[in-house]
Amino acid sequence: MDKTHDSNLKSWIEVDENSDFPIQNIPFGVYSPKGGGDLHVATAIGDYILDLAYLDEAGYFQNTEVEGTEVFHEPTLNAFMSLGRKAWKDTRNVISHLLNKDIEKLRDNKELRELVLIPMEKAVMEFPIDIGDYTDFYSSKEHASNVGTIFRGPENALMPNWLHLPIAYHGRASSVILDGGDVIRPKGQTKLPSAENPSFGDSKRMDFELEMGLFIGTGNSLGERISIENAEEYIFGMALVNDWSARDIQAWEYQPLGPFLAKNLATTISPWIITLEALEPFRCKGPKQEPKPLEYLQNSRDSTFDINLEIHLKSEKMDNFELISSSNYNYLYWDMNQQIVHHTTTGCNLRTGDMLASGTISGPEKNSRGSMLELTWGWSEPLKLSNGEERLALEDGDTVMLKGWCQGDNYRIGFGECTGKLLPSV
Ligand code: CA
Repeated sequence: MDKTHDSNLKSWIEVDENSDFPIQNIPFGVYSPKGGGDLHVATAIGDYILDLAYLDEAGYFQNTEVEGTEVFHEPTLNAFMSLGRKAWKDTRNVISHLLNKDIEKLRDNKELRELVLIPMEKAVMEFPIDIGDYTDFYSSKEHASNVGTIFRGPENALMPNWLHLPIAYHGRASSVILDGGDVIRPKGQTKLPSAENPSFGDSKRMDFELEMGLFIGTGNSLGERISIENAEEYIFGMALVNDWSARDIQAWEYQPLGPFLAKNLATTISPWIITLEALEPFRCKGPKQEPKPLEYLQNSRDSTFDINLEIHLKSEKMDNFELISSSNYNYLYWDMNQQIVHHTTTGCNLRTGDMLASGTISGPEKNSRGSMLELTWGWSEPLKLSNGEERLALEDGDTVMLKGWCQGDNYRIGFGECTGKLLPSV
């Protein structure tokens, strides 16, 4: 592990130990100044945004892989991501060095500091990545078992293929939105089991799904398979994902081809992409896989990360968010390497900016379930909120916030927030 991970590292910028963005994190995102201006690539440190385009203009990326590429002046991260791991590491090293409390270059350059450091409240976070393709996996055994039990009973909870391959479907990239964006209750065709005929109208079973997404940095060419040993090399970083779901639409439409309109209404992502480099100290083992996967999916290394995840809910009657579930990324049965390998067994090409979401991440406990469908056990046990309200599904005006972080020694590698409010249908 390199020195950018040292838990003793401190910046000359004051950073609270509960901040998502200490000097060890160095996430990447895109911002514009509040009140208007160009979009630039940036990182976050404490409560500040550090503008990488201006740092580049000042010559701080000389002799690195990004020198002369102008990638930090782009309105998305894609160009930077496509440069590859050496460029990502070079950039991380430069930023870590410049922010170090003992390094005077930027610390003591008042004029440059005022240009490149922007208080977060004076910035607007922009959609960070041009996502060409979005795939959604179904990699939590707990989630798949819960959903299967609710719909088919405990005998048939997992489909016969589930323990042999990471199930997924091709999702919709055009409706992936940024943290803070509103979600409109969809209309659609539904049919209650008791009803004779389907009907058309507002979805009455709106739900969230606690997920994480990984983003492809450098892709593979069509026809080229990715091996389990190399899979991680293709990953730039990760963000929080809320895969909004209309369960009543899903229940009627999903057979035989899987989810369609139940999932394409909106998918929210958090604005900062946390690199695998930042997550490295939190690498850990995933669950034991039994039966042993086929050889192309066998992974010998520690292949997941210890990332705490939370779901918070706020109704219109509430002043503050309330924690309703706590999970962890390392509960996932199928890991990110296996997802990528499986995705490309056919020679399918992944491209820079593609998003591979994990699927709902549920844990073994009742309060670690990642969707309302599971928390209410198929809409049979209302979720009780502290102000006396109850929920079987989301109601108009409800705001859902996802959070995620790795807990280090007196610091945390945070993912920020992934928030969205459900608005009435139109
Ligand atoms: Ca999902």
